[in-house]
Amino acid sequence: MNPFAGFLFVLVFFGGVLGIVLSASKIYEAVQERKKEKWNLKNAIKAANTLFKCDTCSKYSRAYQQIIKYYDSKLKGALTKTERFCPHCEAHRYNLHRSYDEYSWLETHPDCPEIDKKGYLIYKDTLDKLKQSIKDIEEIKAFQKYNGFK
Ligand SMILES: [Zn+2]
Repeated sequence: MNPFAGFLFVLVFFGGVLGIVLSASKIYEAVQERKKEKWNLKNAIKAANTLFKCDTCSKYSRAYQQIIKYYDSKLKGALTKTERFCPHCEAHRYNLHRSYDEYSWLETHPDCPEIDKKGYLIYKDTLDKLKQSIKDIEEIKAFQKYNGFK
């Protein structure tokens, strides 16, 4: 092997090794990113499923139900409270207490069904639509007020 061919071989060999190392680190980063996203989603679903019990009606509800009920009421213009409340009896949030009860029937009970990943995505989509509708109505109202419509 002449020296130039040897040099070329070394160059190509180390170039290849460097390429493999860089690719591996890119793959590692992508995997870590994906793990982080999965972890975040898992925590978001867990937070949405946080269980509460109402002192007033003694019923269970979950955080996502309270949030949906809040924005739904706001959209209907029926909201008098500024914070979350019981989705069953509408008692103020101070009547809702975090529950650590772990009865398996709570996972599917119609008062407080647990949501999975698919349910969570539907919940987020519903929430986005509710917020957008509220924004649209506020914009129309502001336009009407500005232009002197009653
Ligand atoms: Zn209640």
